[in-house]
Amino acid sequence: MFQPNNGKFDMPALPYGMADLAPALSQETMLVHYGKHLQTYVNNLNAAIPGSAFEGKSLEEIVKTSDGGVFNNAGQILNHAMYFLQFKAPVMGNAPTGYIADIIARDFGSFENFQEEFQAKGAGLFGSGWVWLSATDNGKLVITQEGNAQNPITKDLKPLLTFDVWEHAYYIDYRNRRPDYLKALWGIVNWDVVNERYG
Ligand code: MN
Repeated sequence: MFQPNNGKFDMPALPYGMADLAPALSQETMLVHYGKHLQTYVNNLNAAIPGSAFEGKSLEEIVKTSDGGVFNNAGQILNHAMYFLQFKAPVMGNAPTGYIADIIARDFGSFENFQEEFQAKGAGLFGSGWVWLSATDNGKLVITQEGNAQNPITKDLKPLLTFDVWEHAYYIDYRNRRPDYLKALWGIVNWDVVNERYG
């Protein structure tokens, strides 16, 4: 749960340095994507909350109950917080560990099948949005495409992992090559975080 602090949402504190995700995500991408785009969503939401019905509400509650500009900014803060907090410095042969490894194999046949479907849905999303791995109420894994600022919590799913496919996420490092960007992100996923989200 992301809670406001003295009425304002803070930027999520990253457990790594801005240059640590290279070459998957360059320092320049991090400075623009995290430092500018996310900061703007945070500033916009913090400006919109005072005096509204959303004062004191968690970010998740705001995403579930708002629309228009409040929804767009709150959704993008939640999406980006989950995106940036799920990464770590690159590891060779990075792959799922723990319980999530078992249920990915159970529900998709193999990690490779899961990667293929996740990348295809990310590459195939038209326009701006997010590809998500989530769990249903009974723990089954599903991959969904969410447009713009949408998040699977509005469909009563539990979000576990997401790749941002807005052009601002990859244009500096990959230009128009969205599939190359998606493929590179597997090397920096922190599967401990995904396991924690599954619970
Ligand atoms: Mn983004």
